Amino acid sequence: MYPSLLHETPHPDEQIVLGKRFRLPDSRRIDTYLASEGYQGFLKAAQMTPEQIIDEVKASNLRGRGGAGFPTGLKWSFVPRQSPKPKYIVVNGDESEPGTCKDRVLIQYDPHQLIEGILIAGRSVDAHRGWIYIRGEYRYLIDIMDEAIAEAYARGWLGKNIQGTGFDFELSTHTGAGAYECGEESALLESLEGKRGVPRIRPPFPAVSGAFQCPTILNNVETFAAVPSILRMGGQAWAALGIPKAGGTKLTCLTGHVNRMGVYELALGYPVRKMIEDIGGGIRGGKKLKAMIPGGSSCPILTGEEAWELNMDYDSMAKAKTMLGSGGVVLMDEDTDMVKAALRIIRFYQHESCGWCIPCREGTMWLKKLLTRLDEGVGTVKDIDLVGDLADNMLGRTFCPLGDAAAMPTMSIVRKFRHEFEAKLGRKTVSMAGLSQLVSITG
Ligand code: SF4
Repeated sequence: MYPSLLHETPHPDEQIVLGKRFRLPDSRRIDTYLASEGYQGFLKAAQMTPEQIIDEVKASNLRGRGGAGFPTGLKWSFVPRQSPKPKYIVVNGDESEPGTCKDRVLIQYDPHQLIEGILIAGRSVDAHRGWIYIRGEYRYLIDIMDEAIAEAYARGWLGKNIQGTGFDFELSTHTGAGAYECGEESALLESLEGKRGVPRIRPPFPAVSGAFQCPTILNNVETFAAVPSILRMGGQAWAALGIPKAGGTKLTCLTGHVNRMGVYELALGYPVRKMIEDIGGGIRGGKKLKAMIPGGSSCPILTGEEAWELNMDYDSMAKAKTMLGSGGVVLMDEDTDMVKAALRIIRFYQHESCGWCIPCREGTMWLKKLLTRLDEGVGTVKDIDLVGDLADNMLGRTFCPLGDAAAMPTMSIVRKFRHEFEAKLGRKTVSMAGLSQLVSITG
């Protein structure tokens, strides 16, 4: 029995597209998939030119679901189809962002939807080989995906001359080793090639020089999983599910101090207030919302007051100086200790820093030390300022976005909840860990 993250009662108002098979019996089997419009999007794409497929994806306003939100059709159009090199498709299934657990649901309940999305992407750029890179801790998902791939081969949906269309495609899974850094696309490619998972200098971007220095479409699991319904419904119909600049629906992971945690499919532009109250059943114990991380722990934090008035879409979040990110919503109630929250987040990034560049390697370590001191009441006002300065100096100065991912939430927590840091000054609760940080800082 695999762990379930889906809530039992999805809200009846919602348009369910990505998750429409999740609750069918044997939802991950190919027979279930074929009986519910499965692979119809690919058959349609097989009759279209590559340009028409990309135009359909552009019309859908699909934006990358891994966190960056780059327009998918535009990304695919950057692949030089006339290049004599082979083209590849790589799926980023290295889901590691704290608060995010949506790709695992897609693989667990509907792996053929992902395979179909990969086939359509392959057809759009004349690629005939793909890999699904899955984080090492998702061992059971690798087994599920391997079973689905074997079914697709056995039934002629992978391999040579797929269903008589003349299109060939080979697909396999590739296991990561559990490094957050390998979710960064260029580090993922290094890891896929059997090297240490550290980022590459860019440009060139993967569309031009990706896996094995060949043109590559690299997208998140959810991005590929959205493509079959775009081809089936038509790009414009899919776009209309969302808002003008961000089409369709998105899986949103609701976690933290909320009554009904789970993974929910919500239209882009969904109001935060409705999401928390109607979908999540309100804040646990009837308490007030103190803070919200909107899209995984790397996003700048919002205060409860800020969050209530926003919508779950890229532009609305950008206006509030944060990001929709991966859709990993973390809710914190009025009792949350924000100093501890900042420390918990930075511990993660310090542990995951690959050590390749100094601002991130050293910066995350110093932030952890300072936040430990402050949490244990042996910090000073200068330490609070230093946390802000350190994080500010990391921002935009690291080799990959992990440095920013560590700096942004830290800066926003210190700025918005400074009074909580100040309230801890002088309240000594020093543990051995805090004592050692004190010694190492003061020399
Ligand atoms: Fe590695 Fe951090 Fe530098 Fe990224 S920012 S390359 S994770 S040290």
